[in-house]
Amino acid sequence: MIVSRAWTGKRYAVLGLARSGLATVNALLAGGASVVAWDSNKAARYALLQAPPLQGRGWGWGLSTSDGPDETDMPHPNPSPEGEGLIVADPLEIDLTGFDGIVVSPGVPLNKHPIRAHAATARVPIIGDVELFAQAQTDLPPHKVVGITGTNGKSTTTALIHHICEAAGLPSLAGGNIGLPILGRDSLPAGGVYVLELSSYQIDLTTSLDCDVAVLLNITPDHLDRYDGFEAYADSKARLFGMQSPEHDAVIGIGDTPSAAIARSLSSRGAHLTKIAPGLCMDQSRWPALQGPHNAQNALAAIAACEALGIARAAIDKGLETFPGLPHRMERVATRNGVLFVNDSKATNPDSTAPALSAYPRVHWIVGGLAKTDNLDACRPGFPHVARAYTIGEAGSMFAKLLAPDMPVEESGTLAAAVNAAAANAKPGETVLLSPACASFDQFKDYEARGQAFRDAVAALA
Ligand code: ADP
Repeated sequence: MIVSRAWTGKRYAVLGLARSGLATVNALLAGGASVVAWDSNKAARYALLQAPPLQGRGWGWGLSTSDGPDETDMPHPNPSPEGEGLIVADPLEIDLTGFDGIVVSPGVPLNKHPIRAHAATARVPIIGDVELFAQAQTDLPPHKVVGITGTNGKSTTTALIHHICEAAGLPSLAGGNIGLPILGRDSLPAGGVYVLELSSYQIDLTTSLDCDVAVLLNITPDHLDRYDGFEAYADSKARLFGMQSPEHDAVIGIGDTPSAAIARSLSSRGAHLTKIAPGLCMDQSRWPALQGPHNAQNALAAIAACEALGIARAAIDKGLETFPGLPHRMERVATRNGVLFVNDSKATNPDSTAPALSAYPRVHWIVGGLAKTDNLDACRPGFPHVARAYTIGEAGSMFAKLLAPDMPVEESGTLAAAVNAAAANAKPGETVLLSPACASFDQFKDYEARGQAFRDAVAALA
């Protein structure tokens, strides 16, 4: 567990008790803070009190809760209304004056949630678990932090940098938006590298994270329901560099206007700024899990970040070659009769599908689901690679009409039907690619379930 001595005697409220909220409560208590914890979901509150590290701690119901009587069936071993330890109560019903922070999960939409105004009234900062990690850094053995943000490619680049660090023999962990909650992890021994994937929401909740290396891959319109426009979203990404000491390294993809503007604003960093230009021709043949122009960008960013960490080029090359890739991102599922089947279910918007199409010479493209856009214009540069498209899901007929002038299209409806049709049509050397450019929720629980359905359909081919 990652804990700061600076939390001793402090008071925090934790809103949202999913995995990272639970890890946060545990870490704060272990650091000697007192915590008011809450989740609007009663089962999540109950789970908190059942979690083994909390059993028998000094916690109680010192404060009223919105559904108070319902709580009486919860375990209640050792109440301490004075506020020592853990109290389960809704922070919205408490005067938060004097609290040191309100820790929210990145899933809480702060632009709409009443906690924002409530915190402002009490003059308490709203933070996330990454900010608590930043506060704990002085208590950790000497280490470095790499922070990675961007609209697309964060997970891949985070996993890749972590993999290269390990290949180079450095203790490393990947955290933040990826893997297990950062505060629940064991701290790394001296010389370790914390590689943190940071969504813009996490950056919004962080005020003092001074990354040794900060990476911005790209900024394209996304998540605009949470921001007052595209500029505000881009500003959020820029803050990652605003928190950095000027002598620390910045790595920025300059393939889009807002990212290029951020790079320009950092030109005084000189050798500590690496710009990744789009469209560089690279030999990616030795990197099986890093195909396509988007992965060229991710690989270049990872190389620059690892060079800034002082990792030798030979070790970086070894890491690039042995990187296994992440599930559901350009994942090579199988080769059957000379046809490669690729699961790119994580491509949930046209911007992330576009590079996948360009990664293979002749593609049987399975596309559709719950559309985020009413066009596929971002994918147009990849159209010459498409031998045939197979549309699925709610967007299926709209996409079939959109694509028909440019390529042969079948309206397959379901993923299984699309896989069968694509497998029947594809010739040796061609690729069947699920890269839907859509959310999955019309037909699947999430993109992972969609990717698994693709794997199953490929496995079931005669
Ligand atoms: P994130 O964590 O930012 O969502 P991932 O690494 O999980 O990014 O990749 C998500 C999808 O975005 C993948 O399916 C891939 O096709 C696409 N993608 C990956 N890297 C990039 C990039 N650098 N630029 C554009 N699209 C990308």
